[in-house]
Amino acid sequence: MTKLSGTISRLVLLSSVLISPMFAASTPAPQISLSVDATEAPRKIFHATMTIPAKPGTLTLYYPKWIPGEHGPTGPIQDLAGLKFTANGKTLPWRRDLLDGWTFHVDVPAGASSVDASLDFISPAGSDEGIYTGGATATNKMAVINWNAMLLYPAGWTSDELSYSASLRLPADWKFGTSLAVASQSGAEIKFAPVSLTMLIDGPVISGQYLKVVPLNPGQTPPAEMDVAADSASALDAPPEVWRHYKNLITQTNALFGAQHYRDYHFLFSLSNHVAHFGLEHHESNDSRLGERTLVDPTGRLLGAGLLSHEFVHSWNGKYRRPADLATPDYEKPMQTDLLWVYEGLTDYLGEMLSARMGERTPEEFRDALAYTAADLDHTPGRAWRNLQDTADGVPSMQDAPREWESWRRGLDYYPEDQLTWLWADVIIRQQTHGQKSLDDFCHIFHGPPSGAPQVKTYTFDDIVNTLNQVAPYDWRAFWTERLTNHGPGAPLGGIEGSGWKLVYDDTRSALVQAVEGERDSVNATYSIGLRLKSDGLITDTIEGLPAAKAGIGPGMRLVAVNGRKFSKGVLQDALREGKNGSAALELLVENTEYYKTYKLDYHEGEKFPHLVRDESKADLLSDIIKAR
Ligand SMILES: [Zn+2]
Repeated sequence: MTKLSGTISRLVLLSSVLISPMFAASTPAPQISLSVDATEAPRKIFHATMTIPAKPGTLTLYYPKWIPGEHGPTGPIQDLAGLKFTANGKTLPWRRDLLDGWTFHVDVPAGASSVDASLDFISPAGSDEGIYTGGATATNKMAVINWNAMLLYPAGWTSDELSYSASLRLPADWKFGTSLAVASQSGAEIKFAPVSLTMLIDGPVISGQYLKVVPLNPGQTPPAEMDVAADSASALDAPPEVWRHYKNLITQTNALFGAQHYRDYHFLFSLSNHVAHFGLEHHESNDSRLGERTLVDPTGRLLGAGLLSHEFVHSWNGKYRRPADLATPDYEKPMQTDLLWVYEGLTDYLGEMLSARMGERTPEEFRDALAYTAADLDHTPGRAWRNLQDTADGVPSMQDAPREWESWRRGLDYYPEDQLTWLWADVIIRQQTHGQKSLDDFCHIFHGPPSGAPQVKTYTFDDIVNTLNQVAPYDWRAFWTERLTNHGPGAPLGGIEGSGWKLVYDDTRSALVQAVEGERDSVNATYSIGLRLKSDGLITDTIEGLPAAKAGIGPGMRLVAVNGRKFSKGVLQDALREGKNGSAALELLVENTEYYKTYKLDYHEGEKFPHLVRDESKADLLSDIIKAR
């Protein structure tokens, strides 16, 4: 998963492929048929009908609650509507569970051997409503079908045991892409081969009027392709180098891991300004969604360069290798998120690294992104009260927190901060082995051969420590314990510094800082006066301990004027520059709940933006890390 917040606008035939002792079947489980009608997708309503084997008495059904990869109870229950149950032609009474809103109890009458259920999934109409697969998923021209939003499953069985025969009806002339095996197709009606509930939910379908299919490794096995749907045909008209870079991604991941744990991989890539923007991983596909012009505008490419590589890495790290306490038998049992610093943190490190190895980011763009990440973490005073481990532990209840006070509350820092800590681990391995080994060797052992169909191999903290020791003996337990419980001050910069680079600040915005400001319609004065604001002056965050916060300014206030002149990005920029090395206070007129006040900031260091510069006293390991293999 990648939630697009934080530093950078930041995703079958066999029914028993998941080999895991906890998932073993004992008695035959129900075979369920599911038909989804997506012909009204442009209206943002999807209709589903199901036939579920049942016995007289109470039938307990679940709407999927804990969604794999979303790391929380995010199943969009508020968007489930039109619920109706019948048996032998009669409507059945039902009631929602009083303790769990995702659970329904249906009275099944004598003589009935199955229940027919119908339901609607009403997809949010605004792109900022709901999160992840519960967010906006359909436009006039395209839709992504996530099965978890459109079905119920009976209690008493694991998701590996339950078998679903699914069919899907699409709007006329819409094409589709998915990792699911197609059993038959007739016009706009597709029947998929029966799969376990696990693999059905693992196999979303992208569809649309404009859908471009790009094979990424023609003639090779296992095959991989991009299925890109967009709101316009022109959004698919990316320069040839884009497709070349994604072909390189397959080569580079093969070199990194030395094996694949998918049979046929599909990048399901949505390009629309009207769907939720995120990436969600699956074993054999990812559901990734960015703005319409992501592949055709240089700014879009700069902002989106790391998303698909991140989601692809998850096929190895997160889906195949998964923390034991995150591998749950169904969607009702809560997940424990303490090892997300591996599941997401290592994926973030490898995804960024691969964005450079595949060529979609230049070395300079990679370093700018790393500098930006490090600088934001260096301006996260919340680490004083909350350690990195807690940012992972707290995800299920914290991930939908607002942006206001983010630097004090802390966000999902196990993504960006673990880019820095896994870089640090990579550097230590290289130093300890005098350049003979690297984190690539860890990936080979931990995620590598043998290749095969999707399966889950769980791990614990000890397995991470032991595998790192196999690559390079070191006190890895102490290293990770310190990194996970450290309270700063400041970001962990040991990896950047050990790799031959230094984090510095000057008055020049990198292309990436400018791109993020443009994308978010925002102004970044984080590293100078400790102020983040929208371009209309609305203050989204202040950094505790820096001049704006010390003067009394906080999130939710609005910057109206700077040194007596109406606020704009340019006016603030000029004032910071002109005040450099002067003595006059920077005067900010701020509106707060209908009251106006002028705050005087004693600040004279000009604008500050992060960059990495070479430290010639050390070997340049970073450039080697991001070099194509
Ligand atoms: Zn992720």
